[in-house]
Parts: sequence; structure tokens; C-alpha cells
Amino acid sequence: MKKKEITNIAKGAILFDEPMSRHTSYGIGGPASAYITPKDKEDLRTILKYAKQKNIPAYFIGSGSNILVSDEGINGIVITLGKSFNKLEINKNRVFAETGVMLGKMVKECTKRNLSGIESLIGVPGTLGGALIMNAGAFGGEISNCLESVNAITMSGDEKKYKYDDLEFNYRNSSFSNDEILIDANFKFIESNKETVSKNKLKASGGRKSSQPLRFRSAGSVFKNPKEGAAGYFIDKAGLKGTKSGDAEISSIHANFFVNHGTASASDVIKLINIARKEVSKEFGIMLELEIKTLGFTQEVLEQ
Ligand SMILES: Cc1cc2nc3c(=O)[nH]c(=O)nc-3n(C[C@H](O)[C@H](O)[C@H](O)COP(=O)(O)OP(=O)(O)OC[C@H]3O[C@@H](n4cnc5c(N)ncnc54)[C@H](O)[C@@H]3O)c2cc1C
Repeated sequence: MKKKEITNIAKGAILFDEPMSRHTSYGIGGPASAYITPKDKEDLRTILKYAKQKNIPAYFIGSGSNILVSDEGINGIVITLGKSFNKLEINKNRVFAETGVMLGKMVKECTKRNLSGIESLIGVPGTLGGALIMNAGAFGGEISNCLESVNAITMSGDEKKYKYDDLEFNYRNSSFSNDEILIDANFKFIESNKETVSKNKLKASGGRKSSQPLRFRSAGSVFKNPKEGAAGYFIDKAGLKGTKSGDAEISSIHANFFVNHGTASASDVIKLINIARKEVSKEFGIMLELEIKTLGFTQEVLEQ
């Protein structure tokens, strides 16, 4: 990758050899060749087209709250929309939001107006973009519940418009493809009342505080819950709470949260992932599937 070339074409902020530990909730991850925050939609298109033309791998991140990046880092461009795609417009129960908007802000602004359908996501970290890709959900609600449409930009720089019916959402999964970046979305929430919205919100925030190790760095649940029950239950029953590798630990508060006590590396977390997978498979015959997204690893490392 030619640094000068990128500097000449991109208008937004570019950080070369940028440690991804600065951009993930785990505080873990080696350097990305270039970490770019495009200035606007035109700039984003230019960068995507350039990456495609030059065959440079491009990855998209929101606020990195569901990502484990390898210690070796990412050979390619990492694009984040962050503050440059931050528009949030609310008109009665219709909401237009760019994907760099923090989910927490959207929840706050909607609940303030007694709009229901998003309040149970209170406390889920991250941006709207990450929430849509992951179909973020908590305490019975999912981000896709009141979604009407989404706009994305492809690697060719073309805009792609999706209506809700064009898309598929299920548990922590969406049908968007890896080579398109989501830029904005429209929602239609339910006009409700203060009592209902507050009740749902309090239930969700209370449940989160009582069950999650929120004092330590993590990426939330490491594994998806299998059909047999909660992943954390099986990890706990396999006797793994408190298991450590370096400064990473399987939380003793919530066994599906792996926490970084300060200086954990990605390989420490990967060791814990592989221990949990092996032990749960041995004890219960269940193969746990990752919920967190991994970047910069070879398949062999992930399947040790
Ligand atoms: C303490 C804690 C608690 C959590 N609790 C919950 C919970 O209750 N429920 C839940 O669902 N999740 C939970 N999470 C996980 C995480 O907060 C969500 O998955 C969140 O939606 C991720 O948003 P993000 O912006 O950080 O995305 P990132 O982690 O940056 O990215 C997640 C995925 O989305 C892709 N992506 C991000 N933005 C875009 C974009 N604009 N276009 C295309 N692709 C994009 C990335 O490539 C990646 O594949 C928790 C995490 C933590 C740390």
C-alpha cells in the first residue's frame, strides 16, 4: 500500500500503522496498515474504489465493541464512519440515522420522545452500523424490529438501497455482505407512553448491571447461545469461570464474557476461546459458535 497515494486521494483523517487496541473495547489488537475516517460520502466512495482498484483489503468497524483483532494486526485499510456520519433526525415516530450514530444516543433520543421498540437496547455499546450488522439485541428487543430501510455503499462506490423485506435478520446475524459499508437507516418506532417505555428500559438496564462484569474491558458475549441454552451456563458448568490466560480471564460474573484485566493479548483471548470450545464440546457435545467478529487471524489459529 502506498501511503502517499492514499494521503493524496483521501480527505478525512488517516492514521498509518494505527494500533487497533485503541479502537476496540477489549483494548487489544495490533496495527492496521491504515485507519481511515472518511470526511463524507464522496470521500468514502473514493477510498472504497481506490481499495478495490488496488486490491487492498478493506474492513469496516464501528466502535469495535464486538471485535477481536489479532496481535499481528490488519494488513489493509480499516474504515470507520464515526463522527463523520453522525446525523440523527426524528420526526414523530420516524427516525433517520447515519450509522456512525452511537446506539446509546439513539436509544436516549427515542425514549425521551416515548418511542418504543429500541428501549431494551439501552446499555448495548457501539454504533448503529455495528448494531445493524450484528442485529444487536437484548432483553427481548432487536435493532431490526422497527427497521424500514438501510443504505449501503459497495466497493465500487455505488449506493445500494435495501428495504426491510430485502433483508434477513436472525439471532446476532444479518444478511449484509462483507464488502459493503452501511451508511444510514430509517426506522418507524411505536408511539407509546412514558410508563411503558420507562418500565422496559429499567428492566433492561437493571438486568445488565446485575449480570455483566461491566467494570472490565470485554466485547460482551464471546459465543452465541446454542439452541440448548445459554453459552455462559455451559461454560460455567464445565468449571471454567475464572480460567486465565495471561491477563485475560473467563469472567467469574458471566462466563460468556472474557475480560481483559489490562495487558491481555489477542492470543490470550484465543486460548480461552479454544479451551471453552473444547471443554463444552467434551462435556455437553455442544459446538459453541463465536458471536464476536475476528479480524487479522488465520483459520488455523482460530481452530487450534
Ligand atoms: C459490555 C458489553 C455488552 C454488550 N452487550 C450486548 C448486548 O446486550 N447485545 C448485543 O447484541 N451486543 C452486545 N455487545 C456487543 C456489541 O456492543 C454489539 O455487537 C454492537 O452492536 C457492536 O457495535 P460496534 O459499532 O461496536 O461494531 P463493531 O464491533 O465495530 O463491528 C461489529 C461488526 O459490524 C461491522 N460493521 C460495523 N459498522 C459497520 C458499517 N457501518 N458497515 C458495515 N459493517 C460494519 C464490523 O465489520 C463487524 O463485523 C456488548 C458489548 C460489550 C462490550
